[in-house]
Amino acid sequence: MPSRRDVVHYAIRPHDLALHLFEVVLTVARPDPEGQVLSLPAWIPGSYMIREFARNIVQIRAESDGRKVKLTKLDKHSWRAARCKGQLTITYQVYAWDLSVRAAHLDQTHGFFNGTSVFLQVHGKQQLAHVVDIQPPPGEAYSSWRVATSLPELKARRYRFGTYQAKDYDELIDHPVEMGEYILIDFEAHGVPHEMAITGRIPNLDAERLANDLQRICEYQIAFFEPRSKRAPMQRYVFLTLAVGDGYGGLEHRSSTALICARSDLPVRGQTAITEGYRNFLGLCSHEYFHTWNVKRIKPAVFAPYDLTRENYTSLLWLFEGFTSYYDDLTLVRAGVIDRTTYLGLLAKTLNAVQKGSGRLKQSVAESSFDAWTKYYRQDENAPNAIVSYYQKGSLVALWFDLLIRSQTRGKRSLDDVMRALWRRYGRDFYHDGHGAGVSSVDVEALFDEVTGLRLKSVFDHAVRGTKDLPLTEALASFAIHYQDRPARAAPSLGVRTRREGADCKLTSVYEGGAAHHAGLSAGDTLVAIDDLRVTASNLDSLLARYRVGDTVQIHAFRRDELMSFAVSLLPDTSPKISLTMLEKPLAATKLRDAWLKAR
Ligand SMILES: [Zn+2]
Repeated sequence: MPSRRDVVHYAIRPHDLALHLFEVVLTVARPDPEGQVLSLPAWIPGSYMIREFARNIVQIRAESDGRKVKLTKLDKHSWRAARCKGQLTITYQVYAWDLSVRAAHLDQTHGFFNGTSVFLQVHGKQQLAHVVDIQPPPGEAYSSWRVATSLPELKARRYRFGTYQAKDYDELIDHPVEMGEYILIDFEAHGVPHEMAITGRIPNLDAERLANDLQRICEYQIAFFEPRSKRAPMQRYVFLTLAVGDGYGGLEHRSSTALICARSDLPVRGQTAITEGYRNFLGLCSHEYFHTWNVKRIKPAVFAPYDLTRENYTSLLWLFEGFTSYYDDLTLVRAGVIDRTTYLGLLAKTLNAVQKGSGRLKQSVAESSFDAWTKYYRQDENAPNAIVSYYQKGSLVALWFDLLIRSQTRGKRSLDDVMRALWRRYGRDFYHDGHGAGVSSVDVEALFDEVTGLRLKSVFDHAVRGTKDLPLTEALASFAIHYQDRPARAAPSLGVRTRREGADCKLTSVYEGGAAHHAGLSAGDTLVAIDDLRVTASNLDSLLARYRVGDTVQIHAFRRDELMSFAVSLLPDTSPKISLTMLEKPLAATKLRDAWLKAR
């Protein structure tokens, strides 16, 4: 569509559903006279891994004034168009067959895309207004398809195909788009319209229950950051949800989130109990929603702005992902979606997960954050022995800070105050200005001291920069919560993680210090027999149960296709068995606990 205004204009339509191709027509009214450079991002903000989305561009061509314009490829994701005077039109197809929240997906059942997968950025013009015409697939068969996105409409009715707009490229790629036949749920949270569009076949969905629970979560978090005004930083919020047979994932955006869940996670009409799947799904919604403040607006300095061509290193993901993980479940208990016993069960699960791997003693959460691109996001069989999760340990760091601040200030201050101060200083202004300088590690540490009146450097040294376990037993005791780690059981263990492969039992990880490690077994080995009895995916535990700690067994295993034999001296199962229970006293401690877990 020709335009005299200097805007960047895209038209996107499903081109061939069976071949999973979107076609995009990009029009640049006044291309760079030196030759317009165009590129596709190498990663998507929120998912810290180089994904090289440009590899999915199948065909690309350029024209101006009806004549072909030569495109020169500059590197894996950039092109330069030859000089031309008139309007430049780039037409390209994008292969969309990644069933995740991070890229694009298209078939006869629906279409989904993130802007980072489909919209080439026009260098030098990223700050201009961007307009996108979202078009339906060809054919009557798709006349019932609708559009769900938080991208503001320009000339489109809500949920319809038509023209949408963004004030710059950064905004354009921060509103994923779903198209298809979806179930729409809507509710208000403190006056702000919220919707959830669910794609996928879901018989007997209890939409009302879902809307009620989501509303409680969203209202809690809006009031958490703005207790007085209860003002949300967005005008509208959309949860884009794809329900599949088995799946889990979420990615945060400024006014929306893209989610994948298992169909069985969604509530069924007539059912009132909260299943584990539904609780996890609400936890995921809570997590992504909390990011609306923490990482989409309060963000690391290095993300302001993002450099979409390469890794953006920050040692603060423990704050942006870890603290968000802390507040996702805490929101559920404070908003009354789950009870306190359930919440403590979830905390214990995180404690057990972190304690299990020796990687926690080698990598700090600051290091884990920095190396997210090559380690956390590219985990292999050695991950438990080499790395710590900035999500899981980060959430325990948040827990420790919160308990410590509350105890040491006798309940006058908490981590909530720190989050609100971060929001006021580094987030709210971002929202008003459209951009901000972001926050550095030094800023964060100074703010903690300022808000709490404490000197927390030694806590940062221990929890953020250190690798020693956190003293949570004592911290929780001050809140009348008993932390119990059952001592190593007499049960013998190999110290491995396994996977079923057909009927076979394959080792996926060998834990450092376990019996398998000492005997020389390796991840990738397929167990064949223990003392000449066949091992299958389902009988490993029952075979081991016939022995005692200290017994030596003969294990046969295939490494690749070579049969090997190992003498394995069985060790006790040392995997943590942490549980948390609430105590009735002392009163001062139960008061602190009530203040911590209650909604305010
Ligand atoms: Zn997250």
